[in-house]
Amino acid sequence: MPIYEYQCTQCGEKFEVIQSIGEDGSKLICPKCSTQSPKRLFSSFYSPGSSTTEPSETSCPTCSTGTCGLPPMM
Ligand SMILES: [Zn+2]
Repeated sequence: MPIYEYQCTQCGEKFEVIQSIGEDGSKLICPKCSTQSPKRLFSSFYSPGSSTTEPSETSCPTCSTGTCGLPPMM
């Protein structure tokens, strides 16, 4: 299951929550001040704006350069 990072809108506390896909986190409360409905932050491994990682269609999971001859995983 994916781990989501949330930030409290009241005190700014950041905390991580393991959630099933489809849960919206509206029932979560801040572990520090118990404020409800923290806002969800993007996880570090899920950064659409990152330019340092190769596009998935050109990077091979085995050799990471595509020179091994294996088709990239879709
Ligand atoms: Zn808080």
